[in-house]
Amino acid sequence: MKAAYAKVPFQVQLREEPIREPGPNEVLVRIRACGVCGTDLHIARKMAQDWTRIGHEVAGEVEKLGPGVTTVKPGDKVIVENCTFCGVCRNCKSGRVEHCLSWTTLGPQAGAAEYITVKENSLYSFDDLPFTHAAIAEPLTVALDVTGVAEVPLDSTVCVMGPGPIGLMCVKLAKLRGAKTVVLVGNSHSTTRLAVGKELGADDIVFADKVNVAEHIKERYPDGIDRIIVTSPPKTLLDAVKIANFGAIIGFIGIDVGGEQMVTFDVNEVHFKRLQIRASHAVPNLGFPTALDMLRRKVIDPVRMVTHVFPLDRTEEALRVAETKKGEVVKVVVEC
Ligand SMILES: [Zn+2]
Ligand SMILES: [Zn+2]
Repeated sequence: MKAAYAKVPFQVQLREEPIREPGPNEVLVRIRACGVCGTDLHIARKMAQDWTRIGHEVAGEVEKLGPGVTTVKPGDKVIVENCTFCGVCRNCKSGRVEHCLSWTTLGPQAGAAEYITVKENSLYSFDDLPFTHAAIAEPLTVALDVTGVAEVPLDSTVCVMGPGPIGLMCVKLAKLRGAKTVVLVGNSHSTTRLAVGKELGADDIVFADKVNVAEHIKERYPDGIDRIIVTSPPKTLLDAVKIANFGAIIGFIGIDVGGEQMVTFDVNEVHFKRLQIRASHAVPNLGFPTALDMLRRKVIDPVRMVTHVFPLDRTEEALRVAETKKGEVVKVVVEC
């Protein structure tokens, strides 16, 4: 089978690999679609010093069952969870499956490939959605998680920083939770993304490349922002702290490397405004039932989100387009 690898500096390669036969309680899945995530771009741009498999937003079809599998059958359409809780560790047994100490990830396998062999309990069946649309359920689980940790209240003013697919979905989720005003921060050249952000409910757009974000927002919203959802690079946490209202909650997702993960901010501001900075990490993924349902009902319309689809043979182009065509792209998906 074919599988995609990436390596610094932005090299992508398809390799032939053997298909792994499913063992007890395992399932061989024929992957049909895999979303290109910012993490994959990170891997190619600056993380992977060695060739590394890419892709974790996976939708496919059950191909073959290992012994003992009872919950799916060949031909079923399934999501392959990026990460699955174990159900038996101390935290899982304490009812905190989101803090599982022994989760299973896809590694060393990955999603930009023709096949993947996984445990039966990491699959979730779906219907009524094309594979390329089901593939964006994973970033939607991330958006559900970060919007959830921010506990957006009714009638609040919310700022979503970063108009990537996750940020855009957060705009909609914040509105659904009852936000009065949602401010979306993004670069002015992200034309399509900002347009989709408006469709999803953003009331105000702030161009991060045109104004001083913190000063601009403080001037426009002198009472401060009640909830800030940070999906942009970690350094933008600085602006989040500055624009926060007293008692605000900052929901944060973001990783970086090469020193960029180090952020310094004024703790006095956090102290006196009694801010809470809450990390989100949708690992293990827990939101697939909700995410798939929302996509199916077009609460978030996958047609507007998935702007570019490439075949697996053109994974390199898929990553390059996601990296460079920021004006046109919302989400790139690879059909496998
Ligand atoms: Zn992702
Ligand atoms: Zn566990």
